Amino acid sequence: MEFIREYANWFYLIGAILFILTLRGLSGPKTAIAGNRYGMLAMAIAVLTTFFVAENPVIWMILGAMVLGAIVGIARAKTVPMTQMPETVALMHSLVGLSAVLIAIAAIIHNNKLIELGPDLLAANGITFHEMSKVHLFELFVGCFVGAITFTASVFAYGKLAAKKWAKTISGAWVKPVQALIFIAMLAAGIHFFLTGNMTSFWAMTGLALVFGWVWIAPVGGGDMPVVVSLLNSFSGWAAAGIGFTLENNMLIVAGSLVGSSGAILSYIMCKAMNRSIINVLFGGAMGGTATATAGAGEQVQRNHRSGSADDAGFLMSNADSVVIVPGYGMAQGRAQNAVKELANLLKEQGVTVRFAIHPVAGRMPGHMNVLLAEADVPYEDILEMDEINSDFPATDVVLVIGANDVVNPAAKDDPSSPIYGMPILEAHKARTILVIKRSMATGYAGLDNDLFYNDKTMMIFGDAKKVVEDMTKAINGTGH
Ligand code: NDP
Repeated sequence: MEFIREYANWFYLIGAILFILTLRGLSGPKTAIAGNRYGMLAMAIAVLTTFFVAENPVIWMILGAMVLGAIVGIARAKTVPMTQMPETVALMHSLVGLSAVLIAIAAIIHNNKLIELGPDLLAANGITFHEMSKVHLFELFVGCFVGAITFTASVFAYGKLAAKKWAKTISGAWVKPVQALIFIAMLAAGIHFFLTGNMTSFWAMTGLALVFGWVWIAPVGGGDMPVVVSLLNSFSGWAAAGIGFTLENNMLIVAGSLVGSSGAILSYIMCKAMNRSIINVLFGGAMGGTATATAGAGEQVQRNHRSGSADDAGFLMSNADSVVIVPGYGMAQGRAQNAVKELANLLKEQGVTVRFAIHPVAGRMPGHMNVLLAEADVPYEDILEMDEINSDFPATDVVLVIGANDVVNPAAKDDPSSPIYGMPILEAHKARTILVIKRSMATGYAGLDNDLFYNDKTMMIFGDAKKVVEDMTKAINGTGH
């Protein structure tokens, strides 16, 4: 036990290295399982070491909380469907935020109690006490308000993603001034607490931060929630790092910073892939698309598209040498991934080279398509990222777009007036033949018309993704009508 206490920082260092390996592992599907294992080991080392380092730990309370947490965590992990993953993650971030607030409150109350007891009584009981330094107060102040904002914002994000009635989007001219007012009041109370140690200011700051978290996230559109969740992930990390300073725990500082920076990087990658700025996501409301959507709808009426049947499409694909499948939100919505895997297998059996092309923001959460295809057991080597596959499209016989729209919209490349101009896309329009499965000519998330659907090389196959893909499989098998 003495040994662990003496070498605690070495154990923390091993934990930190394992956390870094975890992030590295999680960056690719093949290494993700190993990454998870590193994470579990790192967390075990972190918790056990802290257990021995802590001064007078109340063992039954810590163990009790750990057992309870483990029961809830295991039960949730075993039952949560893949589709509810984003809201589960949001809920977990809210807990990190809440613990940061509770730890800050506990640290301050503890400090004030010791001051109340007075130096004589403390000395008589052998308690050494150093009054909280300004640096400590600053860490507490930051950790507490970042934690409070993370808590309520994450609870709202959870509610929004789970379509709860209480998570209502707010809008109107009053929103921004109210947000600004609450934020300034929160900062003012926090600074007053920092300068004077006044407890009323501390409670006011915490309360205002809780309200701010809610009014800040409530105007954000539902589709932008994944970016918000990723950003809140980052916040929860920074809050944990702040509290790590308060508790003088190096492991918490390192782990918090890793979460904080990786969350920030992910938010940046997502915004870049959507060609939006983080400011636009957080303060611009939902993608300002209503006007564009209406303009697009006007155009649709006059433009011609070609449509065909699942049988026609099946014939084209079974006679091709190479097929690239581009899944999008519609594949998730129609739960078509298993049917898609069967179709791909059948084509492969017939000697067709079949690959999947994944856009970083296809679907509605990061890695959405990768998760669905992994669930359907599509081999990892058949799944290619945008940068790996884009140069192959001109030599591809058939591209099968399944419920994807914005991520294959050529306007992003050649229409400078388009709101998505500059967003990287999968260049499906360069393939020899393009097949598109969707239910109508309706727009996608960005509310924009898509030239790809009117391309001479394109055939639209209308219907629900799962049904159409199943019909294609039947047609290729020769069991269709
Ligand atoms: P889109 O939302 O652009 O398009 C999806 C298409 O699928 C729609 O046009 C719809 O057309 C069709 N569809 C819906 N349901 C079905 C169904 N059951 N069967 C067949 N087709 C269906 O999706 P993409 O994946 O192309 O693009 C994702 C968009 O989401 C991007 O704009 C991205 O920026 C945004 N986004 C992504 C996030 C992420 O993390 N991945 C986060 C936030 C936003 P129809 O109704 O005619 O069937």
